Amino acid sequence: MAQAEVIISNPTADTLFVNGKVVTVNSRDEIAEALSIRGRRILRVGKRPYVDQTLGPDTKVVDLKGRTLVPGFIENHIHMTNSPQRLWVDCSYAACPSISDIAEKIAARTRLAKPGDWILGRGFQSARLKDGRNPNRFDLDPISPNNPVGIANREGMGWTFNTPGLRRIGVEDDTPDPPGGPMERDLRGRPLGPMWDNTREVFIKPNLPKYSLDDLLEGYRWIAGELNRCGITTAFEAAIRNLPETAAWQRLRAEKPLSLRVVMGPYPVYGEKWEANSTAGKIFDTGLATSFGDSWLKLGAVQIGIDGGVIGQTAALQEPYSNDPIGTWRGSFRLSQETANEFMIKVQSNDWQAGLICHGDHGIMRGLEAIAHARKRVDNRDLRHRLEHAYLWNVETMDRMAELGVIWNTQPPLLEIVGREGVYGQWGDRARFAFPGSSRSSQPS
Ligand SMILES: [Zn+2]
Repeated sequence: MAQAEVIISNPTADTLFVNGKVVTVNSRDEIAEALSIRGRRILRVGKRPYVDQTLGPDTKVVDLKGRTLVPGFIENHIHMTNSPQRLWVDCSYAACPSISDIAEKIAARTRLAKPGDWILGRGFQSARLKDGRNPNRFDLDPISPNNPVGIANREGMGWTFNTPGLRRIGVEDDTPDPPGGPMERDLRGRPLGPMWDNTREVFIKPNLPKYSLDDLLEGYRWIAGELNRCGITTAFEAAIRNLPETAAWQRLRAEKPLSLRVVMGPYPVYGEKWEANSTAGKIFDTGLATSFGDSWLKLGAVQIGIDGGVIGQTAALQEPYSNDPIGTWRGSFRLSQETANEFMIKVQSNDWQAGLICHGDHGIMRGLEAIAHARKRVDNRDLRHRLEHAYLWNVETMDRMAELGVIWNTQPPLLEIVGREGVYGQWGDRARFAFPGSSRSSQPS
């Protein structure tokens, strides 16, 4: 008994880190000089003599030689469910600067496939392509007449298809745009291939081949390793849409040790065809809510898309796009204000935190209004909701966000992808409030 007490009160460390700058991020933001760990827990952090007390005969001592030791980083919004896409044809600007380069790469993959098999690609970005337009069915049909082709754009909000691909996802020449899902069309009104936003929920996701549990397990292991290499130890998965996507994380959770703490954001699409009050509500009937789980795998904010994206210029703006030749295009919404309000009431009444995915200033305002609407009607614990992506701000939206205590989870890599010219080209002078990384102190008065 006495011996057991000694072991508990003074356990020996597996590893000691000494002579470093240990960033604690404690309430006093202290920098310590040493730290010891046992298993997956920190034993001690502080001055050398205090930490040295955990030194045992088998302890490994790492001399940091003045270097800095930091806690694991948190990736606050990432789509790890897309990790199987790493095996798709790379159609990014770096690999394919023109549409003919994309066609060539797709043709090479097609030659290896059986007729009828899907050929899938990722990463095209029309503004950067030499051609300055989206690849469409007429670019892709000649090189892949017998295989459906689908390519996701760099932002993931838009896709393009060849003709067999369009037919396979249920799009004919006379198929109308679904609500919040614009399609590029020729002069006779026939879909050309490129399509955005809700077309994913209505046509694309239900009809593309589903990832198997094994595809996801392999993809998740890969992405967890990549994130760990960057020092990331916790990640928020921003859209869990189906059972295998959850089951694969649970499987990895059981296969100890998981090298990444995962917070899952369920995305309860409003019905298969975007109809309110169908499948979406079921998540609110489970009794589960944000924070359910443990420190390794738990539920985070429930997600829903409010407006379109940046690359396809469908983000909803309060004033028209600066580069629209007609001067009337303001982007498009994926949800009406009423549906967003109704969703937020369900969220707030069932103890969920929400992550509202919005892009343009009008999209951001719609999300904030829905939060305000639900707050007034449902008196709940102080849930701090999130805006995901959220790129184009103005003074009014920033004030409203502060007033509602909303958390901002942006995606800074998009600025690098679109480029400053891309952002100013679309939004003109408004772009000075895009991607605000610091305070509003630099705003012109
Ligand atoms: Zn996202």
